[in-house]
Amino acid sequence: MSERKLSHWGWGWADKFPSTDARKQLGTQLGAMLGIAPSGPTDPVALDDVSLHDARVSAPDSVPCVTDDREERIRHTYGRAFGDVVRGFAGDFAAAPDLVAHPTTEEEVGHVLDWAQGAKVAVVPYGGGTSVVRGVECALPEGFAGTLSLDLRRLDRVLEVEPTSRTARIQAGASGPRLEEQLKEHGMTLRCFPQSFEHSTLGGWIATRAGGHFATNYTHIDDLTASIRALTPAGVKEGQVWQSRRLPGSGAGPSPDRMMLGSEGTLGVITEAWMRVRPRPRFRASASVKFADYSKAVDACRAVAQSGLFPSNCRLLDAREAKLNMVATDGSSVLVLAFESADHPLEAWMERALELARDHGGVAGEPTYSDSGSKTGESGAAGSWKNAFIEMPYLQNVMVSLGVIADTFETAIPWDRFEELHSALVTNVRGAMKEVCGSPCHLSCRFTHVYPDGPAPYYTFIAKARPGAELEQWAAIKKAASDTLIAHGATITHHHAVGRTHAPWYREQRPTEMGNALRALKGALDPEGILNPGALI
Ligand SMILES: Cc1cc2nc3c(=O)[nH]c(=O)nc-3n(C[C@H](O)[C@H](O)[C@H](O)COP(=O)(O)OP(=O)(O)OC[C@H]3O[C@@H](n4cnc5c(N)ncnc54)[C@H](O)[C@@H]3O)c2cc1C
Repeated sequence: MSERKLSHWGWGWADKFPSTDARKQLGTQLGAMLGIAPSGPTDPVALDDVSLHDARVSAPDSVPCVTDDREERIRHTYGRAFGDVVRGFAGDFAAAPDLVAHPTTEEEVGHVLDWAQGAKVAVVPYGGGTSVVRGVECALPEGFAGTLSLDLRRLDRVLEVEPTSRTARIQAGASGPRLEEQLKEHGMTLRCFPQSFEHSTLGGWIATRAGGHFATNYTHIDDLTASIRALTPAGVKEGQVWQSRRLPGSGAGPSPDRMMLGSEGTLGVITEAWMRVRPRPRFRASASVKFADYSKAVDACRAVAQSGLFPSNCRLLDAREAKLNMVATDGSSVLVLAFESADHPLEAWMERALELARDHGGVAGEPTYSDSGSKTGESGAAGSWKNAFIEMPYLQNVMVSLGVIADTFETAIPWDRFEELHSALVTNVRGAMKEVCGSPCHLSCRFTHVYPDGPAPYYTFIAKARPGAELEQWAAIKKAASDTLIAHGATITHHHAVGRTHAPWYREQRPTEMGNALRALKGALDPEGILNPGALI
């Protein structure tokens, strides 16, 4: 049996890219649903037909885990942002790294960093390569001899599980499924499920401060991280390792873990971390509530977010989003609610959440309850939404082949400013789409996370592309969205990270002195500036 291959240009497994006929059919459905007439479908440039520049550097025998293999270089060129998929589909791999390293031990990571500092080679840490902000892009920065993509995926083991404190020591290159399958042997779960779960890695999650798909409480990797181990270029020279203590909490000065969380491969290479794990859930409850009026649905969602019930899911889909995901086609907004626990049945929590939703005009469907991990708790709207959630990224590959721009942007904002931000985004982003792509176009919103003080809204935009102008059109829409977020006091990203794409707006968002402090920290940990130049800082 041949090994299952990832797509060299788009999201996920290569064998999940539909046939020409199936894509044509999807195009017809898209036209019927959104009124956006697709073109094509066209086909991606085959791997064998990609032309690639020659490697500008070569590694000595002392770093044997390095290769200049053509296919490896192509596969490590991009992350999975819309622009990455468009460039990969068109066979543009001009940004390919010169070299790719596959270390199997922390020592080998050290050898790579040590050599790269002397050779002035830029090193881009690479987890699953699912960045949507050009975080793993390897284009040659000025002053460097070459670029190397440092793929951590062979460091993929759960090294220790400590049941008393419920913590596990896990290598940074473990993908979601790899770490969950090993934790399952101990009856544990990390319970961090970003939509990119199948292919992204623990190190990538930590480096980007990823958010899992649960709506409240422990869903951010920040809260699940007990201690981090990393190699920095300066540390490698001095024989030091960045290793924080495994502690449930600490007030001893600024947190060393917080310095690595969100550092996006610019300060050090995370090699392993102690993570807070938990028993796998046994009880589940789910329900969905329909609302005719979106602003009442927002109020209901806020009431649940502020109730102290902390549902595992509290996802509000506006009417367009509900239709796109085929959760409701009657113009209703839908609030998908779920609870889960390893310890207790959930009827009381669910009943109270539904009562709050009804108080705001919601019409609740019958809740479903399950015990012992059966799937029945995810039937109905919650079930259809989850299936669509997992399969949704594959649609972007299809959209690109149909000449359609399809992407998302996300943020967070206090409740008292959500309505104003939302209405500005609808005006400005729809306006930009109409201007650069024409009508009709699609913009929809769902809340991915909710906090007592505000939601994290996540927007999907879809519009017709002009062949050859996709990146320019996308940039105009993205600029309209990002300018609006910053002007209204929202964050440029809630969980997609900064990378290269968000860097101009991130600079506006962070305090000026913090920019200076970050540069000073970078200078101390990475004096030659070899780690991911151009990202974040
Ligand atoms: C379809 C899709 C859905 C997504 N859904 C979510 C979601 O639900 N929630 C969410 O938070 N994000 C989501 N993302 C974004 C992305 O998956 C996250 O940013 C994820 O954390 C990246 O992990 P990765 O292992 O793929 O890292 P990569 O993409 O390989 O790298 C991301 C950044 O981290 C750095 N890095 C990676 N590994 C290390 C390491 N070991 N040490 C130091 N630096 C490192 C890289 O240099 C880069 O700057 C999604 C992306 C896609 C394409």
